[in-house]
Amino acid sequence: MYFPIRCFTCGAVIADKYEEYAKRVKEGKNPAKVLEEMDIERYCCRRMFLSHVEVMDKIVKYRKS
Ligand SMILES: [Zn+2]
Repeated sequence: MYFPIRCFTCGAVIADKYEEYAKRVKEGKNPAKVLEEMDIERYCCRRMFLSHVEVMDKIVKYRKS
């Protein structure tokens, strides 16, 4: 799945923040700290980030060429 454009619950736009979030977490930072630094405070939005699994990189290997 792609990362959703908006939070399912409150409708806040979150897609524009995902790249920065993923980058910082990849650098080994604590996801909770990263979300705090990025002012994502509502727990409905936070779960969108924390529960997201990036499967597209795996799926794309099996595409028809
Ligand atoms: Zn939300």
